Amino acid sequence: MATEYALFTAALGLSAPREVSDIRFDVEAKRIDFDVTFASGSRFACPACGAEGQPVHGTRQRTWQHLHFFEHQAYIHAAVPRVRCQDCGKTSQVEVPWARPESGFTQLFEALCQRLRLAPVQWLRRGDERPDPGGQGARPRLSHHAQPDHRVLSHRRQAHPSAGVTLRHNM
Ligand SMILES: [Zn+2]
Repeated sequence: MATEYALFTAALGLSAPREVSDIRFDVEAKRIDFDVTFASGSRFACPACGAEGQPVHGTRQRTWQHLHFFEHQAYIHAAVPRVRCQDCGKTSQVEVPWARPESGFTQLFEALCQRLRLAPVQWLRRGDERPDPGGQGARPRLSHHAQPDHRVLSHRRQAHPSAGVTLRHNM
């Protein structure tokens, strides 16, 4: 399994000292769970003052929902380290690279949700050069997020513009 762990460690964008340490794949539930751990003896920067190389002072087990891997729901589980800073004296939870603090979703998952909510409408009738009042076609900037692939989605506007947008998932 070492190769598979290394593959998914890379697929999740993780780097040392973090790595995928277990993968549970439930075909019937269409669900895949990843355990992410950090190497024993790892040290982290203090989130409060930035002092590097602080020792771990306990962990907090957490779970995040990630983007689907094909049709499978994906979850990341990790023991998030806390450090007791030898410089400022504070005990703080280290941030994880895949999620904002206290969010239950990874940043990629949040970016996809934001894209679905704000994505520009694609008019179905070819040649429909409707004006764009209110700038609805302006694509939001998600510079702090990775950009999910937009091509898998199609959108259909309902009869009345205020009736909202129907999103149809083609996967
Ligand atoms: Zn500190």
